[in-house]
Amino acid sequence: MTLAAARGGFAGLDACVHCGFCLQACPTFLATGDEADSPRGRIELMRALERGDLAATDTALVFHLDRCLGCRACEPVCPSGVRYGQALETARERLADAGGVPWLARAALWALTTPGVSEVVYALARAFRATGLPRLLAGWGRIRFAMGMLAATKPTGGNGRSRAVRGGRFAQPVTAPYRPLPPLTALLFRGCVMQGLFPHVHDATIRTLEVNGYDVREVRGQVCCGALHAHAGLGDEARALARTNALAFGDGDEPIVVNSAGCGAMLKETALAARVRDVTDLLAANGGPVSGGPLDLHVAYDPPCHLLHAQRVAAPPQRLFAAIPLLRLVTVAGANDCCGSAGLFTLVEPEMSRTVLQTKLDALGAVAPQVVATGNPGCAMQIGAGLAARGIRTPVRHPVELLDASYRAAGRYE
Ligand code: SF4
Ligand code: SF4
Repeated sequence: MTLAAARGGFAGLDACVHCGFCLQACPTFLATGDEADSPRGRIELMRALERGDLAATDTALVFHLDRCLGCRACEPVCPSGVRYGQALETARERLADAGGVPWLARAALWALTTPGVSEVVYALARAFRATGLPRLLAGWGRIRFAMGMLAATKPTGGNGRSRAVRGGRFAQPVTAPYRPLPPLTALLFRGCVMQGLFPHVHDATIRTLEVNGYDVREVRGQVCCGALHAHAGLGDEARALARTNALAFGDGDEPIVVNSAGCGAMLKETALAARVRDVTDLLAANGGPVSGGPLDLHVAYDPPCHLLHAQRVAAPPQRLFAAIPLLRLVTVAGANDCCGSAGLFTLVEPEMSRTVLQTKLDALGAVAPQVVATGNPGCAMQIGAGLAARGIRTPVRHPVELLDASYRAAGRYE
């Protein structure tokens, strides 16, 4: 049985009453105006696939399902509770079984997620990033956009190394009205891209959680969450990774803290689901997070689709920002809409991806924030590359990086 099938396969589509409420929430429909690029149209295509009226190699079927971002913006607006995301993964698995996975997606998965390979790839990427060349070469077009994506992963100054991992604690908060005694334990999910290109976000995650009363522990033997594999239709590989992670994290009840929305959404589809918490969700528990020092910044928050729509985590990031004195969130039109990243989508469907991104960049340009904050590596890289291609130097940061800077400003790490 497939992972998606185990969660219901196409059955979640039965509730669709064709009302069309989802159409205006769908970025690909808004981009093309084509019913077949809408959730309702794709549901009809998937039903035809399920009935056997369309083959899994049907050109139109493959074309329109490939152009779906998997952002799941169609789910929360659906009055019938259609479970689109799980049906899409079922369909993609059938398409991959019948027609294979594009070589570019295969190559990217191999380079970014294969133990023993990805460490070398990320080390080379970090070394290249350190030269500053990716930022200079950023622009439109596949190669230059990839340069911008890499440049967007570069940490800004002030992100000191984590001083304590694996159960150690180093900072006593100035005030911690709700701090539990003894400290709670959280297990850190490291992932592939986050570990390879955003280790500074892991450091910030550890430091900020420790201020908020958690011992953050490492877990040996953990592997990639499998989200990129599942989105590409490689269900068997995603399930194998899920089994390995279930063994690594064991059957305890400690929360598993995740700072990548895509990884979190995927892990919530596995046996570990009940324990998986986004870092903002964990920080906001028990009345948190603890307040930090002032950051006089205008920040545009871009909620990742896999946090907002897939995990339905909306309020905790707002609580995190509220814990930072002087920080002002600016209102961005369409902030809840997809940025067009969608895992490997930006790589394999660049035209649609860039079309969706342009809308996001126009909206951000209208408010000119000093920082864009988002909690998913793909979104950070996509938006960062788009801004760089437009010649805009606004940095993109994870929300916990801002909280970390706020705690540093408050002297909590001294
Ligand atoms: S909103 Fe829900 S019920 Fe209506 S067309 Fe879209 S998926 Fe179907
Ligand atoms: S997942 Fe996103 S792109 Fe795909 S049909 Fe739903 S809203 Fe449209």
